Amino acid sequence: MGIRLENLVVKFGDFTAINDLTIQIPKGKLISLLGPSGCGKSTTLFTICGIHKPAGGKIYFGEREVTGLEPEKLGIGLVFQNYALYPHMTIRENILFPLKNLKWDKAEAEKRVVEVAKIVKIDGLLDRKPGQLSGGQQQRVAIARALAKKPENLLLDEPLSNLDTKLRVETRQEIRRIQQETGVTAIFVTHDQEEAMSISDQIILMKDGKIQQVSTPTEIYMNPCNKFVASFIGSPAMNFIRLNVKDGSAQVEDCIFNGLPTNKKTVDLGFRAEDMEVSVQGFDTIVETVEVLGRERLLTLNHKGDTFKMLVDKEFMIEEGSTLKIRPKVGKAYVFDTETEEFIT
Ligand code: ATP
Repeated sequence: MGIRLENLVVKFGDFTAINDLTIQIPKGKLISLLGPSGCGKSTTLFTICGIHKPAGGKIYFGEREVTGLEPEKLGIGLVFQNYALYPHMTIRENILFPLKNLKWDKAEAEKRVVEVAKIVKIDGLLDRKPGQLSGGQQQRVAIARALAKKPENLLLDEPLSNLDTKLRVETRQEIRRIQQETGVTAIFVTHDQEEAMSISDQIILMKDGKIQQVSTPTEIYMNPCNKFVASFIGSPAMNFIRLNVKDGSAQVEDCIFNGLPTNKKTVDLGFRAEDMEVSVQGFDTIVETVEVLGRERLLTLNHKGDTFKMLVDKEFMIEEGSTLKIRPKVGKAYVFDTETEEFIT
């Protein structure tokens, strides 16, 4: 077992930022803590690494309980969004620094610097200063420094936030490669669902200090457990329409929905932009905008004040302002409870 949190509670004064959080992170896996700003991702990470003290609950690294221990007693690697490199030191000295603190043998430490620099592919830059490196290279150095002491656990807090889009994508793949190559157990904090989807073994999606769902990227996309998860995961976000249900059926213009719960008067139907089709058995929408995305076009459609995003093939020609009759593809829609927002079917 890698890292285990049991019933963790973290408070700031009267405010409960984390409420009864229980998580298991298997050894050698990368899990993402994902969620909107303020949901408690960083607080969870800072509590694991001993910067915040929990008001309740326990933290284990393997069999060892580490609740409330100071960061330097934990033997973890930490990477933050701002790299936090020492500007006056060379890259070599930056990576060496934590090993000196740990009183590593000098020759061993120097060997390890070269080894870890090779893993993150910055071995040609060791004699430069941080100011002479690009943002992406600086973040690799930060990762090398965190990995130098061979930690079992690596915690990364929004490590890609300061990079431009292209570098973000490249660097996230690098982080995944490095994590897999070293076998380190990693917790990766991000608010970017695409980032989490692309590199994680598991995603822990949080909201208001509580877990919403713990699943693999594919599972969380295919089987969201509630409306929040459904709308947070996926880009463009899932579309929703409220249906008035009678005897398990609902109708929106020429579109009939069957198999709905017979005990509900309303449900929210969710469907993704790629799961819609033009159909005479549909409902009318006005095409508000047409965006060319390359391989596809993204339409913004309006149906009586509800807006939907629909992905169509680039060959599909349609003008803004025209009418389009659409429906969710059969078998591709999700039904949610309008009150609890839980997934029904
Ligand atoms: P972001 O993506 O914006 O960093 P987050 O999910 O990491 O958000 P946290 O920083 O963990 O969120 O914050 C969780 C909640 O705890 C927020 O409501 C925040 O305002 C509150 N909080 C965080 N740190 C403190 C603090 N030192 N004192 C008081 N409240 C805090």
